[in-house]
Amino acid sequence: MAGEPAKYVTESIKEKALSLGFDLVGIARSRRLLEYENIFTEWRLAGMNGNMNYLQKNTDARFDPSILLPGTRTVIVTGLNYYTDIIQEQNDVPLISRYAFGNDYHFIIKNKLNELLLYIKSIFPDARGKAFCDSSAILEKAWAVEAGLGWQGKNSLVINESFGSFFFIGILLLDIDLDYDEPFHEDKCGSCSLCIDHCPVRAINKNRTVDARKCISSLTIEKKEPLIREEVQKFNRRVFGCDICQEVCPWNKNIKSHNHPELYISDVLRKMKKNEWLTLDRQKYEKLFRHTPVARVRFEIFKKNIETVLSNPA
Ligand code: SF4
Ligand code: SF4
Repeated sequence: MAGEPAKYVTESIKEKALSLGFDLVGIARSRRLLEYENIFTEWRLAGMNGNMNYLQKNTDARFDPSILLPGTRTVIVTGLNYYTDIIQEQNDVPLISRYAFGNDYHFIIKNKLNELLLYIKSIFPDARGKAFCDSSAILEKAWAVEAGLGWQGKNSLVINESFGSFFFIGILLLDIDLDYDEPFHEDKCGSCSLCIDHCPVRAINKNRTVDARKCISSLTIEKKEPLIREEVQKFNRRVFGCDICQEVCPWNKNIKSHNHPELYISDVLRKMKKNEWLTLDRQKYEKLFRHTPVARVRFEIFKKNIETVLSNPA
């Protein structure tokens, strides 16, 4: 597909994505991402995937979308802003990452991507597509760069010039051709190293990867056993995720808060006091977190982590 009609159809698909609530959309030509293979393999062989054993599987498919959807020609990449100024109010409570305040983004994004696919099928009835969100099967950050959404910062996250890095990436593979965006070629981190300098556990490597064995975000989410005292010394009350390397990033200053009500923090979570955290029971945990990403951590482990993190607040 080439020329004016392709441009017109592509624009209408992008408009549809924005009308579904996505904040960003870019379109890349599918290819095998050869240049990422070595860096990923080195990272994994060094054990830096930590508890994420699933990253050892399907390694070939990760670099080649056509293994995930035979005949893939196009990778649509969407961004959904989750930045918010409305956060937990108390300054002595366990901290939850912004992305986990509201409903689980996996479902929100997949639903929107599937709606987008239906729209595309209304134009190309024979088109086939497959949606991914936060899936280990595909290199989402690399595709966001390919689709021109931004560059991969030194903290490993994709940074967009308007939205910063607090956005979820969604991927829709298609077996049809569209009009493609240019990959983002610049590195706008420059000489900055604030994320590396401020990471309390020194988890950020020089090659824009993160050591999951040290990273607070990985440990608080992926570890299947409760955290131990020695591990949480530098967690500074973080009990689910960590936003430090994003909060210090100059590209995240003065960014717009999202307007997705399903991602808002609840009033109860926003106001929750330390004693309420310490007496959290299963019923309240389920009421507060059942529909959020926090539900990935079992209640028993989450409860123990709260106690451990609060007894080592610095
Ligand atoms: S999320 Fe936190 S612990 Fe992980 S790399 Fe960023 S600052 Fe370090
Ligand atoms: S803090 Fe600085 S080095 Fe790190 S991602 Fe942001 S701009 Fe890049």
